[in-house]
Amino acid sequence: MADLDKELRSDHISLPDTNTDVLRLDLLHPVISGNKWFKLKEYLADAATTGKNTILTFGGAYSNHIIATATAAKLSGFKSIGIIRGEQNEVMTGTLLEAAQNNMQLYFTSREDYRRKIIPISVFKENDEKNIYIINEGGYGIKGMKGAATILENIDLCHYTHIIAAVGTGTTLAGLISAAQQHQSLIGISVMRNNFSLEEEINALLPEEKKDRFTLVHEYSFGGYAKHNETLIRFMNEWFRATSIPSDFVYTGKLFYAVKDLVEKKFFPGGSKLLVIHSGGLQGNRSLKKGTLIF
Ligand SMILES: *Cc1c(COP(=O)(O)O)cnc(C)c1O
Repeated sequence: MADLDKELRSDHISLPDTNTDVLRLDLLHPVISGNKWFKLKEYLADAATTGKNTILTFGGAYSNHIIATATAAKLSGFKSIGIIRGEQNEVMTGTLLEAAQNNMQLYFTSREDYRRKIIPISVFKENDEKNIYIINEGGYGIKGMKGAATILENIDLCHYTHIIAAVGTGTTLAGLISAAQQHQSLIGISVMRNNFSLEEEINALLPEEKKDRFTLVHEYSFGGYAKHNETLIRFMNEWFRATSIPSDFVYTGKLFYAVKDLVEKKFFPGGSKLLVIHSGGLQGNRSLKKGTLIF
Protein backbone atom coordinates (compact mmCIF):
# COMPACT_ATOMS: atom_id res chain seq x y z
CA MET A 1 0.00 0.00 0.00
CA ALA A 2 1.08 3.54 -0.64
CA ASP A 3 1.68 5.51 2.50
CA LEU A 4 1.71 9.26 2.21
CA ASP A 5 1.12 10.05 5.84
CA LYS A 6 3.76 12.41 7.07
CA GLU A 7 4.24 15.42 9.28
CA LEU A 8 1.89 18.10 7.99
CA ARG A 9 2.82 21.74 7.77
CA SER A 10 0.70 24.60 9.08
CA ASP A 11 1.18 28.19 7.95
CA HIS A 12 0.24 30.99 10.28
CA ILE A 13 -1.62 33.77 8.53
CA SER A 14 -2.48 37.22 9.61
CA LEU A 15 -6.18 38.02 9.97
CA PRO A 16 -7.71 40.57 12.38
CA ASP A 17 -8.56 39.52 15.98
CA THR A 18 -7.96 35.83 15.41
CA ASN A 19 -5.10 33.41 15.38
CA THR A 20 -5.31 31.49 12.13
CA ASP A 21 -3.34 28.51 10.87
CA VAL A 22 -3.76 26.87 7.48
CA LEU A 23 -3.08 23.12 7.44
CA ARG A 24 -1.32 22.51 4.14
CA LEU A 25 -2.68 19.21 2.85
CA ASP A 26 -1.98 20.57 -0.62
CA LEU A 27 1.71 19.81 0.00
CA LEU A 28 1.12 16.11 0.65
CA HIS A 29 1.84 14.77 -2.83
CA PRO A 30 2.14 16.45 -6.23
CA VAL A 31 -0.88 14.62 -7.68
CA ILE A 32 -2.82 12.93 -4.87
CA SER A 33 -3.38 16.27 -3.32
CA GLY A 34 -5.04 17.25 -0.13
CA ASN A 35 -7.97 15.49 1.45
CA LYS A 36 -8.34 12.93 -1.34
CA TRP A 37 -5.56 10.66 -0.09
CA PHE A 38 -7.09 10.60 3.37
CA LYS A 39 -10.53 9.75 1.99
CA LEU A 40 -9.14 6.96 -0.18
CA LYS A 41 -6.78 5.15 2.10
CA GLU A 42 -9.30 3.08 4.10
CA TYR A 43 -11.03 1.99 0.91
CA LEU A 44 -7.74 0.89 -0.62
CA ALA A 45 -6.86 -1.06 2.50
CA ASP A 46 -10.30 -2.71 2.41
CA ALA A 47 -9.92 -3.55 -1.28
CA ALA A 48 -6.59 -5.22 -0.53
CA THR A 49 -7.93 -7.28 2.38
CA THR A 50 -10.95 -8.40 0.38
CA GLY A 51 -8.72 -9.54 -2.48
CA LYS A 52 -9.87 -7.05 -5.12
CA ASN A 53 -7.36 -5.84 -7.68
CA THR A 54 -9.31 -3.09 -9.44
CA ILE A 55 -10.68 0.16 -8.01
CA LEU A 56 -13.70 1.69 -9.76
CA THR A 57 -15.03 5.15 -9.08
CA PHE A 58 -16.98 8.05 -10.60
CA GLY A 59 -16.18 11.66 -11.45
CA GLY A 60 -16.28 14.61 -13.80
CA ALA A 61 -13.70 15.66 -16.35
CA TYR A 62 -11.77 17.87 -13.91
CA SER A 63 -12.32 15.72 -10.85
CA ASN A 64 -9.68 15.79 -8.12
CA HIS A 65 -11.12 12.50 -6.90
CA ILE A 66 -10.58 10.80 -10.28
CA ILE A 67 -6.95 11.85 -10.62
CA ALA A 68 -6.24 11.03 -6.97
CA THR A 69 -7.86 7.60 -7.29
CA ALA A 70 -5.94 6.80 -10.48
CA THR A 71 -2.63 7.75 -8.88
CA ALA A 72 -3.23 6.23 -5.44
CA ALA A 73 -4.47 2.98 -7.03
CA LYS A 74 -1.37 2.75 -9.19
CA LEU A 75 0.96 3.49 -6.26
CA SER A 76 -0.79 0.78 -4.26
CA GLY A 77 -0.65 -1.81 -7.02
CA PHE A 78 -4.29 -1.73 -8.15
CA LYS A 79 -5.80 -1.34 -11.58
CA SER A 80 -8.36 1.44 -11.78
CA ILE A 81 -11.49 2.33 -13.70
CA GLY A 82 -13.03 5.78 -13.93
CA ILE A 83 -16.68 6.27 -14.91
CA ILE A 84 -16.67 9.77 -16.35
CA ARG A 85 -19.64 12.10 -16.81
CA GLY A 86 -20.04 13.11 -20.47
CA GLU A 87 -18.98 11.94 -23.89
CA GLN A 88 -15.29 11.45 -24.57
CA ASN A 89 -15.12 14.01 -27.37
CA GLU A 90 -16.60 16.73 -25.19
CA VAL A 91 -14.71 16.06 -21.98
CA MET A 92 -11.12 14.91 -22.65
CA THR A 93 -9.11 17.14 -20.32
CA GLY A 94 -5.64 17.35 -18.80
CA THR A 95 -7.06 15.73 -15.68
CA LEU A 96 -8.36 12.74 -17.62
CA LEU A 97 -5.21 12.42 -19.72
CA GLU A 98 -3.18 12.28 -16.55
CA ALA A 99 -5.56 9.73 -15.03
CA ALA A 100 -5.16 7.63 -18.19
CA GLN A 101 -1.38 7.96 -17.96
CA ASN A 102 -1.71 6.45 -14.51
CA ASN A 103 -3.36 3.47 -16.18
CA MET A 104 -6.92 4.35 -15.28
CA GLN A 105 -9.36 2.89 -17.83
CA LEU A 106 -11.88 5.58 -18.62
CA TYR A 107 -15.52 4.90 -19.54
CA PHE A 108 -17.73 7.80 -20.56
CA THR A 109 -21.44 7.92 -19.77
CA SER A 110 -24.38 10.18 -20.49
CA ARG A 111 -25.28 12.69 -17.82
CA GLU A 112 -28.43 10.74 -17.04
CA ASP A 113 -26.62 7.40 -16.60
CA TYR A 114 -23.96 9.20 -14.61
CA ARG A 115 -26.54 10.68 -12.28
CA ARG A 116 -27.90 7.20 -11.64
CA LYS A 117 -24.35 5.84 -11.26
CA ILE A 118 -24.93 3.19 -13.88
CA ILE A 119 -21.79 1.24 -14.70
CA PRO A 120 -21.54 0.63 -18.47
CA ILE A 121 -21.88 -3.03 -19.48
CA SER A 122 -18.57 -2.84 -21.33
CA VAL A 123 -16.82 -2.50 -17.94
CA PHE A 124 -17.96 -6.01 -17.05
CA LYS A 125 -17.12 -7.37 -20.50
CA GLU A 126 -13.56 -6.16 -20.12
CA ASN A 127 -13.08 -6.80 -16.40
CA ASP A 128 -14.01 -9.58 -14.03
CA GLU A 129 -16.70 -8.16 -11.76
CA LYS A 130 -15.47 -10.09 -8.73
CA ASN A 131 -12.15 -8.20 -8.82
CA ILE A 132 -13.76 -4.78 -8.78
CA TYR A 133 -13.96 -2.62 -5.67
CA ILE A 134 -16.35 0.31 -6.03
CA ILE A 135 -15.72 3.64 -4.33
CA ASN A 136 -18.55 6.19 -4.30
CA GLU A 137 -18.27 9.48 -6.15
CA GLY A 138 -16.13 11.78 -4.04
CA GLY A 139 -15.23 8.94 -1.69
CA TYR A 140 -18.45 9.48 0.26
CA GLY A 141 -18.95 6.86 2.96
CA ILE A 142 -17.90 5.68 6.41
CA LYS A 143 -14.45 4.53 5.30
CA GLY A 144 -13.88 7.88 3.63
CA MET A 145 -14.84 9.60 6.85
CA LYS A 146 -12.56 7.35 8.92
CA GLY A 147 -9.64 8.09 6.65
CA ALA A 148 -10.38 11.80 6.75
CA ALA A 149 -10.41 11.68 10.55
CA THR A 150 -6.69 10.89 10.44
CA ILE A 151 -6.01 14.34 8.94
CA LEU A 152 -6.01 15.62 12.51
CA GLU A 153 -3.97 12.74 13.93
CA ASN A 154 -0.55 14.36 14.12
CA ILE A 155 -1.63 17.85 14.98
CA ASP A 156 -1.42 19.67 18.25
CA LEU A 157 -5.14 20.21 18.16
CA CYS A 158 -6.25 21.30 21.61
CA HIS A 159 -5.65 25.05 21.35
CA TYR A 160 -7.88 25.55 18.30
CA THR A 161 -11.41 26.83 18.88
CA HIS A 162 -12.65 26.38 15.30
CA ILE A 163 -11.84 23.98 12.46
CA ILE A 164 -12.99 25.08 9.03
CA ALA A 165 -13.04 23.20 5.73
CA ALA A 166 -14.50 23.33 2.24
CA VAL A 167 -17.37 20.90 1.72
CA GLY A 168 -18.35 18.90 -1.37
CA THR A 169 -19.82 15.56 -0.29
CA GLY A 170 -19.11 16.36 3.38
CA THR A 171 -17.03 13.22 3.89
CA THR A 172 -13.97 15.20 4.91
CA LEU A 173 -15.94 17.42 7.28
CA ALA A 174 -17.48 14.29 8.85
CA GLY A 175 -13.96 12.95 9.46
CA LEU A 176 -12.87 16.23 11.02
CA ILE A 177 -15.99 16.28 13.22
CA SER A 178 -15.33 12.76 14.40
CA ALA A 179 -11.71 13.57 15.29
CA ALA A 180 -12.27 16.99 16.85
CA GLN A 181 -12.40 17.68 20.55
CA GLN A 182 -15.49 18.55 22.55
CA HIS A 183 -14.77 22.30 22.79
CA GLN A 184 -14.13 22.81 19.07
CA SER A 185 -16.61 24.22 16.57
CA LEU A 186 -16.62 22.67 13.12
CA ILE A 187 -17.57 24.85 10.19
CA GLY A 188 -18.07 23.66 6.62
CA ILE A 189 -18.11 26.03 3.67
CA SER A 190 -20.37 24.45 1.06
CA VAL A 191 -19.15 24.95 -2.51
CA MET A 192 -22.48 23.93 -4.03
CA ARG A 193 -25.49 26.13 -4.40
CA ASN A 194 -28.17 25.56 -1.75
CA ASN A 195 -27.10 21.98 -1.16
CA PHE A 196 -29.33 21.61 1.86
CA SER A 197 -29.30 17.79 1.84
CA LEU A 198 -25.67 17.96 2.99
CA GLU A 199 -26.56 18.14 6.65
CA GLU A 200 -28.37 14.83 6.48
CA GLU A 201 -25.61 13.25 4.40
CA ILE A 202 -22.97 14.28 6.92
CA ASN A 203 -25.05 13.15 9.88
CA ALA A 204 -25.57 9.78 8.18
CA LEU A 205 -21.81 9.16 8.46
CA LEU A 206 -21.44 10.27 12.07
CA PRO A 207 -21.90 8.28 15.26
CA GLU A 208 -24.85 9.37 17.42
CA GLU A 209 -22.87 11.56 19.82
CA LYS A 210 -21.27 13.53 16.98
CA LYS A 211 -24.38 14.24 14.92
CA ASP A 212 -25.30 17.91 14.41
CA ARG A 213 -22.05 19.08 15.96
CA PHE A 214 -21.22 21.28 13.00
CA THR A 215 -22.33 24.36 11.11
CA LEU A 216 -22.68 24.57 7.35
CA VAL A 217 -22.33 27.91 5.63
CA HIS A 218 -24.03 28.15 2.24
CA GLU A 219 -23.30 31.78 1.35
CA TYR A 220 -19.96 31.31 -0.41
CA SER A 221 -20.76 29.02 -3.33
CA PHE A 222 -20.29 31.84 -5.88
CA GLY A 223 -23.32 30.57 -7.76
CA GLY A 224 -22.62 26.85 -7.57
CA TYR A 225 -20.17 24.01 -8.02
CA ALA A 226 -17.13 25.12 -10.06
CA LYS A 227 -18.79 28.46 -10.72
CA HIS A 228 -16.56 31.49 -10.28
CA ASN A 229 -16.40 35.16 -11.03
CA GLU A 230 -13.87 37.96 -11.15
CA THR A 231 -14.24 38.67 -7.45
CA LEU A 232 -13.19 35.14 -6.56
CA ILE A 233 -10.27 35.08 -8.98
CA ARG A 234 -9.05 38.49 -7.83
CA PHE A 235 -9.32 37.32 -4.22
CA MET A 236 -7.31 34.15 -4.93
CA ASN A 237 -4.50 36.22 -6.45
CA GLU A 238 -4.55 38.71 -3.57
CA TRP A 239 -4.61 35.87 -1.05
CA PHE A 240 -1.57 34.33 -2.72
CA ARG A 241 0.27 37.66 -2.68
CA ALA A 242 -0.50 38.14 1.00
CA THR A 243 0.07 34.58 2.28
CA SER A 244 2.00 32.68 -0.43
CA ILE A 245 -0.76 30.08 -0.25
CA PRO A 246 -2.18 28.97 -3.62
CA SER A 247 -5.82 27.93 -3.80
CA ASP A 248 -8.19 26.38 -6.34
CA PHE A 249 -11.33 28.03 -7.64
CA VAL A 250 -13.65 25.09 -6.91
CA TYR A 251 -12.99 24.55 -3.20
CA THR A 252 -10.21 26.29 -1.33
CA GLY A 253 -10.54 29.68 -3.02
CA LYS A 254 -14.13 29.81 -1.75
CA LEU A 255 -12.99 28.50 1.63
CA PHE A 256 -10.35 31.18 2.15
CA TYR A 257 -12.68 33.87 0.83
CA ALA A 258 -15.27 32.76 3.37
CA VAL A 259 -12.79 32.63 6.25
CA LYS A 260 -11.54 36.15 5.54
CA ASP A 261 -15.05 37.50 5.09
CA LEU A 262 -16.39 35.80 8.23
CA VAL A 263 -13.45 37.12 10.26
CA GLU A 264 -14.08 40.63 8.96
CA LYS A 265 -17.78 40.30 9.81
CA LYS A 266 -16.81 39.23 13.36
CA PHE A 267 -18.43 35.82 13.01
CA PHE A 268 -15.74 34.43 15.32
CA PRO A 269 -15.37 35.73 18.89
CA GLY A 270 -12.19 37.81 19.41
CA GLY A 271 -9.18 35.65 20.24
CA SER A 272 -10.52 32.61 18.36
CA LYS A 273 -7.91 30.19 17.13
CA LEU A 274 -8.81 28.91 13.69
CA LEU A 275 -7.50 25.85 11.93
CA VAL A 276 -8.34 26.12 8.23
CA ILE A 277 -7.88 22.92 6.21
CA HIS A 278 -6.22 23.48 2.82
CA SER A 279 -7.71 20.44 1.14
CA GLY A 280 -5.58 20.72 -2.02
CA GLY A 281 -7.21 20.47 -5.44
CA LEU A 282 -4.87 22.84 -7.24
CA GLN A 283 -4.86 20.67 -10.38
CA GLY A 284 -8.45 21.79 -11.01
CA ASN A 285 -7.14 25.26 -11.93
CA ARG A 286 -6.05 23.71 -15.24
CA SER A 287 -9.50 24.45 -16.58
CA LEU A 288 -8.93 28.19 -16.22
CA LYS A 289 -7.45 30.24 -19.03
CA LYS A 290 -3.66 30.47 -18.77
CA GLY A 291 -2.57 33.61 -16.93
CA THR A 292 -5.80 33.94 -14.93
CA LEU A 293 -3.91 33.13 -11.74
CA ILE A 294 -0.50 34.48 -10.74
CA PHE A 295 0.60 31.13 -9.26
C1 LIG B 1 -12.97 16.93 -3.02
C2 LIG B 1 -12.51 18.18 -2.38
C3 LIG B 1 -13.16 18.74 -1.28
C4 LIG B 1 -14.47 18.21 -0.76
O1 LIG B 1 -14.33 17.10 0.06
P1 LIG B 1 -15.62 16.34 0.56
O2 LIG B 1 -15.06 15.30 1.45
O3 LIG B 1 -16.28 15.74 -0.65
O4 LIG B 1 -16.51 17.30 1.23
C5 LIG B 1 -12.62 19.86 -0.69
N1 LIG B 1 -11.50 20.42 -1.18
C6 LIG B 1 -10.86 19.93 -2.25
C7 LIG B 1 -9.66 20.63 -2.74
C8 LIG B 1 -11.33 18.79 -2.87
O5 LIG B 1 -10.68 18.32 -3.96
